[in-house]
Amino acid sequence: MTTAVEVERQFAAAAAQVVDWIQGYFEDAEHYPVLSRAQPGQLRSLLPGSPPLEPEPFEAVWQDFQRVVLPAVTHWNHPAFFAYFAITGSAPGVLGEMLSAALNVNGMLWRTCPAATELEQVVLDWLRQMLGLPEQFGVIMDTASVATLCAVAAAREALSLDIRTRGMAGRPDLPRLRLYTSEQAHSSVDKAAIVLGLGQEGVRKVPTDEDYRMRPDALEEAIREDVRAGWRPVCVVATVGTTSTTSVDPVDEVAGVCERYGVWLHVDAAYGGAAAILPEMRWVLRGCERADSFLVNPHKWLFTPIDCTAFYTRRPDVLRGAFSLVPAYLQTPVADAVNFMDYGIQLGRRFRALKLWMVIRMFGVRGLQEALRGHLQLARRFADWVDASEEFERVAPVPFSTVCFRHRAPGLTPEEANRFNERLLESVNATGEAYLSHTVLRDQYVLRLAVGNLRTELRHVRRCWELLQEQARRLQGLR
Ligand code: PLP
Repeated sequence: MTTAVEVERQFAAAAAQVVDWIQGYFEDAEHYPVLSRAQPGQLRSLLPGSPPLEPEPFEAVWQDFQRVVLPAVTHWNHPAFFAYFAITGSAPGVLGEMLSAALNVNGMLWRTCPAATELEQVVLDWLRQMLGLPEQFGVIMDTASVATLCAVAAAREALSLDIRTRGMAGRPDLPRLRLYTSEQAHSSVDKAAIVLGLGQEGVRKVPTDEDYRMRPDALEEAIREDVRAGWRPVCVVATVGTTSTTSVDPVDEVAGVCERYGVWLHVDAAYGGAAAILPEMRWVLRGCERADSFLVNPHKWLFTPIDCTAFYTRRPDVLRGAFSLVPAYLQTPVADAVNFMDYGIQLGRRFRALKLWMVIRMFGVRGLQEALRGHLQLARRFADWVDASEEFERVAPVPFSTVCFRHRAPGLTPEEANRFNERLLESVNATGEAYLSHTVLRDQYVLRLAVGNLRTELRHVRRCWELLQEQARRLQGLR
């Protein structure tokens, strides 16, 4: 029988095959249908329901990867993937992931892998400088959702209400706690409130202006009203690059409000923050130097394979106060080293810094800037076509590389126009040539095109525009 050690010996040959395939995939991803055509349950029906008892050769597994797995993949690495926030699992990032998997360290403590901790510190400081943020503590977390949860936990800790020890239930001495964010903020903010016991009623959605940005006057009014009614404000979450329209909250003014009322300011710049590596886009982070905490996702628009969220705080002691819990078996004699397990929920930590380090070094800041600039230009071109078109209309400003638009659907009621746009989206996605997603803004069904893949060229965006027009005409013909 093949032993586990013998299986390990197949590594070089198998890896060579996989690497060869990845190289081809990067170059040829556009030949796959971008949105998987798999039916629900298809993959499961093609694989045995129980595990193999005996070892199988790599070749057999590899064949199933091609035959069963690939057809059920939606290709986020396709240059015409324009849905949600388009991303790239770049070559340097994949190299970093390979090494991280091979080393398989757990960077929970400095001593369990000094390189994981210190490379994380170095690379986060590089990224901070690239974004023009002041010096502060950084830690890599898996996702923005988790980082926002940690930020709100730190904000709650900063209130000194002893919630960490005594909890919140059954405490008449506790005021009800409120979190403020715009009505355009990501659902991860609500989830943080749910998990931390604030509840959904503990989230107050601040109205936005005509360009979907949080209104600081409305924020201040909401806080004043709540304080009068006995609520205790915990945290304000501002967004740089909201999920639907990529609007940028006026963080500077929001920071002023937070400072006046002594409320923690967290900035979610998951997607939009990356743009600040461009001098001409620095403005998007104006005021973020005043935030108590801040996050940006290199796994969104900095070509780092998912997952990698960079989380920064000017108040690491508070974050540590919220999370540090060191059982005897994790105590170490190295008192002055940072143990990242103290700054978040998870104990075990992957060596994520490697992939970000590889990305920044192998592309260089200039290479990254050039790629982002290209994306901004492509989105601008698309927005210009929409603006010049009589059939389509743009429904939000385009500060980054995401365009929100819709077909005007003349002669239809608002409900019918929504249904028409929904069908248009489905028809374009069904071609397999491009993949767009949608949102709803002021009761209107809206299409979104987000450029974020390294290999997206003008021809991909142009083809998507042609598809939209072709499919709209086809659907109008069917009407
Ligand atoms: N914040 C914003 C503004 C987002 O757009 C998203 C996801 O698109 C998130 C947070 C959540 O990101 P993650 O998947 O890293 O939790």
